[in-house]
Amino acid sequence: MLNIVLFGPPGAGKGTQSERLIEKYNLVHLSTGDIFRANIKMESELGVLAKSYMDQGLLVPDSVTIEMLRSEVSKKQEALGFIFDGFPRTNAQAAALDEVLLTFNTSITMMAALEVEEEELKRRLLNRATTSGRADDGDISIIENRISVYNKETAPVKMFYQNQNKFISINGLGTIDEITTRLFSAIDTKLA
Ligand code: ADP
Repeated sequence: MLNIVLFGPPGAGKGTQSERLIEKYNLVHLSTGDIFRANIKMESELGVLAKSYMDQGLLVPDSVTIEMLRSEVSKKQEALGFIFDGFPRTNAQAAALDEVLLTFNTSITMMAALEVEEEELKRRLLNRATTSGRADDGDISIIENRISVYNKETAPVKMFYQNQNKFISINGLGTIDEITTRLFSAIDTKLA
């Protein structure tokens, strides 16, 4: 299996690039943010809980997120591989992901981390708010919260994959096509 963690701060372009990657490599896309938003729409118990954190730019608790992810992975047993988008966001999530994949006799192939500086992230998120309808995109103080949570809790997850020799940094500035080309070439090198 080809299992990719597509990593990066909010607004780095993970969702956009995921679409390109799933098409080229025939992967299943698992975006924890998308799954939470679908649950919010359905007004499920999980959705109500997740919303209370997401609206503030905070992480949904690990226990909840990990259980949800475990159940989504087990629903897709026939997959050729996964793109994990927005997961793992903490070291505890990264350790749990290794465990889940081990029960399916597979593992993470690589983490591709999209690097984008803070000012550009803010610009992109405020711009996305005009079309996404996402409450967490339209408010600069919530955006700043999300970036600071990323720096504190999520950025350290890079080390987790560095220690496993699976970390690859990708320049996230440029056109969407340029960034896709960088990702394809990093993945093809890893596979070769
Ligand atoms: P972005 O990467 O642009 O912030 P996402 O759609 O990935 O957007 O995430 C939106 C929100 O969903 C996050 O701010 C957080 O509240 C919640 N969330 C998503 N993934 C996770 C996760 N793995 N752990 C905890 N919370 C998460």
